[in-house]
Amino acid sequence: MKIRKFQSQQDFQNLLAQHPDIREHAAFEVAIMSRRQGNKRFSLEGYCKVCERPTTFLVDRLFGAQETAEGWLPNWRERLVCTHCHLKNRLRAMLHAIKEVALTRLSKGQSVSLYAMEQITSLFAWLNKKSQQIENLTCVGSEYLGEKIEGGTIVDGIIKGIRHENIEALSFADHSFDIITSNDVLEHVNLPEQAIAEMYRVLKKEGEIFITIPFHLNAFQTIRRAQLVNGEIKHLLPPLYHGNPLSKKGSLVFNDFGWEFLEQLKAAGFCDVSLCHYWSYLYGYLGEPQYYFWAYKPN
Ligand SMILES: [Zn+2]
Repeated sequence: MKIRKFQSQQDFQNLLAQHPDIREHAAFEVAIMSRRQGNKRFSLEGYCKVCERPTTFLVDRLFGAQETAEGWLPNWRERLVCTHCHLKNRLRAMLHAIKEVALTRLSKGQSVSLYAMEQITSLFAWLNKKSQQIENLTCVGSEYLGEKIEGGTIVDGIIKGIRHENIEALSFADHSFDIITSNDVLEHVNLPEQAIAEMYRVLKKEGEIFITIPFHLNAFQTIRRAQLVNGEIKHLLPPLYHGNPLSKKGSLVFNDFGWEFLEQLKAAGFCDVSLCHYWSYLYGYLGEPQYYFWAYKPN
């Protein structure tokens, strides 16, 4: 699978506007849907890179399918659920990318320590299982459990042994991890630049970060929707919440990210800060454009 890396909004817009592959992908997705307008849900055959086996990907209207002039359009990024690992498109692609990096490092005889900014999730469950099966792979996850708890405290909640971390002030020592992954988390922190600085601090030299965030491809500026002022939430835009297994209300979105996000990563010291674009029918990575963010800490 080809992963294209972009460091600027302009380069990426040029790709979207001009590259024949991109137009083919988009037309292909339209054709898939034109044959399935009578279906509330359907499945596509493919190959799961997380399971490493042929599989069936399920598509339905959950997570905000759109009604368009041509009919309904699924939220590809949040669907295409593998019937074996039950992971959706976005999370499978993230694990695929992390797996390749981890396996390369392990094959060179290096150990790999990984930190995921999540713990009560299917993504973490998979990583944790792998860390028990693979020698020299260790994996830590955490959730935010409230302001009164000290970072690093282990709490028995929905599952046993949940580690509490405030990602704006991590309790880990400097240079602790080879890989950090943060999946749709940074939009929920008051000061994402502080969380980015903490990621940089706890990452080892030549360590890599893999990030997904809700992202506005057409915007440069990151828009603050809310901020904490003396411990109180001040809404600058109408409050927006995302699903959170630990809270009925969900998690408040503090920031709508634009390309400025890449500048924030660079300012923290990260190198080769990139939007990584990918697409694959075989692997169930539909929904042009699909992407995650990647960077590394220099030696
Ligand atoms: Zn799978």
